[in-house]
Amino acid sequence: MRVYNFAAGPSMLPLEVLEEAKASLTDYNNSGMSVMELTHRGKHYEPIHNECISLVRELLGVSDNYEVLLLQGGASTQFEAVPLNLLTSFEDKADYIVTGNFSSKAYKEAKKYGDIALAGSSEDKNYTYIPEYTVRDDAKYLHITSNNTIFGLEWNSFPDVKMPIACDMSSDIMSRKIDVDKFGVIYAGAQKNLGPAGVTLVIVKKDLLEQANPLCPSMLKWALHAKNNSLYNTPPTFAIYMMMLNLRHLKKIGGVEAIEKINREKAKILYDFIDNSGFYKNPVKECDRSIMNVPFTTPNADLDAACVKGAEAAGLVSLKGHRLVGGLRASIYNAMPVDGVKALVEYLKKFEQENK
Ligand SMILES: *Cc1c(COP(=O)(O)O)cnc(C)c1O
Repeated sequence: MRVYNFAAGPSMLPLEVLEEAKASLTDYNNSGMSVMELTHRGKHYEPIHNECISLVRELLGVSDNYEVLLLQGGASTQFEAVPLNLLTSFEDKADYIVTGNFSSKAYKEAKKYGDIALAGSSEDKNYTYIPEYTVRDDAKYLHITSNNTIFGLEWNSFPDVKMPIACDMSSDIMSRKIDVDKFGVIYAGAQKNLGPAGVTLVIVKKDLLEQANPLCPSMLKWALHAKNNSLYNTPPTFAIYMMMLNLRHLKKIGGVEAIEKINREKAKILYDFIDNSGFYKNPVKECDRSIMNVPFTTPNADLDAACVKGAEAAGLVSLKGHRLVGGLRASIYNAMPVDGVKALVEYLKKFEQENK
């Protein structure tokens, strides 16, 4: 039996996508092989690779001014790749806005590679709001995290600054329409909205490819991967295949615009319920709330644990909050259907009646 999986990542994938992968698991396209067994330089794999890249371009509206790269190492590797690719020397400057655990990690990693300053932070209130910020005019880029997965905090309109913005979009990429031209670099681990774990998407403006630190490791160097169409070394072929199938599915159901409507509907159902309950609470400032990750608490930690346990028994799984926040967290990424959120609300109503 399939459950409604509210995990923060790896997360749900559409059943149709999994079924399709299953159907071709042992013999892909009459090759007599699984995709896992195909050489990455052959006539069967290359169309998968290129379709994945062109679907990213099409679905996000990425212009020819940008490279689309399929890399490894997760978003966490990009925490270091960003400064190593964008700061030529250790004196070069970059500014960071810290709005959660992942952006804090990105900030700390970057400090090794340049003159890095904190442009703004909402740590004082446990990352429950998007802060004001001040950037240095000569910073070579500004780094932000569009959606903070752990605290459920999301940028609704992006900073208006002169320097390129480097943005970690791991947990909300393809969930809503964005203007790619506003960014210098966008990166995302695949395992929340794009596909299974193992592939990392990087979208980078071509005019930013020539300024890497000479010490940047080859495997982290975007220009090298761009020159080789992300086939410099063996790419994670099966993860890319799954991502390609998932993006095909997204295109079929109407693309980012269509999924954004559904995502906003899901988020509204859940937040409206929480706000009107008096039993459950979400601490995030209303205008900065995430449409992907919804953390909430019951009146106490024992009830939180009981609520998670009861949900599990009802087929609503992985609702335990992150250890930094406690309580519960419902991650409602693209693949979570509206019915899953409705089922969660029904369960939470019942739990409230039985425990208040
Ligand atoms: C999950 C996540 C990460 C970590 O991604 P990995 O692929 O595990 O390295 C980084 N940033 C954000 C915003 C995330 O949600």
